[in-house]
Amino acid sequence: MSHDDQTQLAVRLNVELASLQAPERLAAFRAALTGRIVFTTSLGVEDQAIAHMIAGEKLDIELATLDTGRLFPETYDVWQRAEEVLGLEIKAFYPDATATEALVSRQGVNGFYNSIDARKACCDIRKVAPLARALAGAAGWIAGLRADQSEHRGALDFVAFDAARGLLKLNPIFDWTRERVVEYVEKHAVPVNALHAKGFVSIGCAPCTRAILPGEPERAGRWWWEQGDKRECGLHVAPDGRLVRANAGSN
Ligand code: SF4
Repeated sequence: MSHDDQTQLAVRLNVELASLQAPERLAAFRAALTGRIVFTTSLGVEDQAIAHMIAGEKLDIELATLDTGRLFPETYDVWQRAEEVLGLEIKAFYPDATATEALVSRQGVNGFYNSIDARKACCDIRKVAPLARALAGAAGWIAGLRADQSEHRGALDFVAFDAARGLLKLNPIFDWTRERVVEYVEKHAVPVNALHAKGFVSIGCAPCTRAILPGEPERAGRWWWEQGDKRECGLHVAPDGRLVRANAGSN
């Protein structure tokens, strides 16, 4: 399918899926695409809800997670429980050993605290490169971004054409609030990361995530030593630095 055709499909699906329930959005996305679809889960509460929907609908969608080597023990616990309870395999993608060894040699094991460039270098090796392998050859990508996680993410859509990766991307719970997500996992007894009960909202690598205080923005606990509200690890960012939007191919 050409980039123009993929862009048009993304724009059409973005409108059609908006009126559906989240499990129906996943099913419709699966039906609209030919080829592999990969759901990349961080094992946070949003992604656990989506994994439960994929299992419930028995959809032919692969699950993948990026094991950076710096995750919390609680994240490994919920990964194991999710596979057992939902009956799904969550395939692990690891950083390249040679690149990781060179990174640590160059900037130290916790060098990411020293500068934004050092932090991005670590995220590139531990997250962005493994993500590229996870998505290689896929026609579709599913993620658990929500509009109200940050002002930056509020500019996203349900379905986007990711021109750099040549695939369509769906955020099936884009319009859900965090309260709705929590209600969903409680209702369906979906296993969740134990850190959520300790004030951790958005959970990534252990050295780069802290609990947030009441009233703080959801993503305030990620790379909290950096300034601004656009702190992203690069997974959902286009080469020009913007988050990928549905009309990205036409402007
Ligand atoms: S979140 Fe922190 S530890 Fe994880 S890859 Fe990025 S800089 Fe490295």
